[in-house]
Amino acid sequence: MATEVLKLTAQIVISHASMSELTPKELVEEIKDIYNLLSSLEGEISLAEALPGAAEKGKEAAVVKKPSIPLDEIVKEKYVVCLECGKKMRTLKAHLRKAHKLVPAEYYRQYGLDPKKFPLVCKEYSEQRRKLAKEKGLGERGFRRKAKTA
Ligand SMILES: [Zn+2]
Repeated sequence: MATEVLKLTAQIVISHASMSELTPKELVEEIKDIYNLLSSLEGEISLAEALPGAAEKGKEAAVVKKPSIPLDEIVKEKYVVCLECGKKMRTLKAHLRKAHKLVPAEYYRQYGLDPKKFPLVCKEYSEQRRKLAKEKGLGERGFRRKAKTA
């Protein structure tokens, strides 16, 4: 956050200094002024933005929920189970965002899951994706999971 403000400050001061004669002292004063101004503005904005999300994120990071469904039951051939509500779907990513306002990283963190072991798509789907990727010659990085395990 602070580095962003510093960058901005530098840009503003540089463009100003290129237009007007500034003594070193004036330059330093200007840097301070602009930095303080930008910091205070940013502080207000990020505070407003952070209020709903940040507090919750901190809380979620600390607490690992216990899934109500056995973990070997959540990634199946035709569906994956949402640990938040128990729904079965082919892919969870859009559902998590819409229904629970979660990004995958948060979802994994909440339940202490390993993203590699518990993909957000059913096995059939990841197998299709893997094949598609292979056909396109993209290799199978990211879809190394073997469909026949478990
Ligand atoms: Zn759900």
